[in-house]
Amino acid sequence: MIMKKNPIRVAVTGAAGNIGYALLFRIASGAMFGPDQPVALNLIEIEPGMGALKGVAMELDDCAFPLLTEIVQTSDLSVGFKDVDWALLVGSVPRKQGMERADLLGINGKVFVGQGKAINENAKPSVRVVVVGNPCNTNCLIAMKSAPNIPDEQFFAMTRLDENRAKTQLAQKAGVAVKEVSGLCVWGNHSPTMFPDFYNTKIGRQKATAVITDEAWLKDTFVPTVGQRGKAIIDARGASSAASAANAVVDTVRDLVTPTRGDYHSVCVISRGEYGTPSGIITSLPIKVDAVGKWRVVEGLRLTDYAKEQIAKSNEELLEERKVAFGQLGLSL
Ligand code: NDP
Repeated sequence: MIMKKNPIRVAVTGAAGNIGYALLFRIASGAMFGPDQPVALNLIEIEPGMGALKGVAMELDDCAFPLLTEIVQTSDLSVGFKDVDWALLVGSVPRKQGMERADLLGINGKVFVGQGKAINENAKPSVRVVVVGNPCNTNCLIAMKSAPNIPDEQFFAMTRLDENRAKTQLAQKAGVAVKEVSGLCVWGNHSPTMFPDFYNTKIGRQKATAVITDEAWLKDTFVPTVGQRGKAIIDARGASSAASAANAVVDTVRDLVTPTRGDYHSVCVISRGEYGTPSGIITSLPIKVDAVGKWRVVEGLRLTDYAKEQIAKSNEELLEERKVAFGQLGLSL
């Protein structure tokens, strides 16, 4: 007899946004949790987005996804996060012209305080939270601090799109298929200061630096290309990357629920001081998942002095973001 699995309940904020529109159909199709795992979707929007959300829900209905058991549409966070297994926090207020970074940290900070509290009070204690809305590392830290009953290890922010972008850039430069590129961790903040560590990367069985010997290209072209890829896409498409960001959310969650067999991946998690990173920030580290589904930071990678310097700069930025946001929100460390 085939055992019927209980649905995994997934909340998505900003569900009617661009990334939401590219993400929901992938989740409902089974791309995130597998082809035999039912899912229920709690779609969360702010009040002005509820009309568009209705249309998205209608399209989900029209796909007749066999795995999709229920769609909840709400702007009420206590309904949206009720009993969820996963909370994918995609929505956030975009930076508008004339807005300082500090303003954005404060505005979004408030949103993530509210969401953290609602997750704390309504979600399953085992809930896992992935933050996409920018500035995602600090938003994640704020949500985590606002959800004291949920273990810190259950909060994540996304740097997987940066990793995927970086892998493709190296594959194209080396003239190989992207699956040949492994061991590429993006460290630090999801911002232009992030560091895609090409020194530990392999192309096939060789070090990437043995295949691409032009270190100046790696430092001065590759790293900034990854950092500015989002802008390049806006320039080309007239809209920000949405399908590739949604794909990276799928990759992130799928690889957090699947024991790692080969390559590690970049995920922003709570730092316990690994590799000299400051404890207590949400920073991007190389992550593996064990056979019982517990994640850990990969040990034993050797960082060059250059890499250490770049990672330290990015983590300094995170400390500064934390200082500004916590100051504005009255949060304590
Ligand atoms: P998107 O769905 O395209 O983007 C949402 C978030 O993802 C933004 O913070 C954005 O940051 C980030 N993001 C975009 N591209 C990438 C990328 N390539 N890599 C990593 N992160 C990325 O924006 P929309 O404007 O279409 O939708 C936003 C949604 O959020 C709307 O549906 C809106 O109603 C909702 N919203 C919800 C709020 C809430 O929950 N309280 C508050 C405000 C909006 P960046 O802007 O830096 O690109």
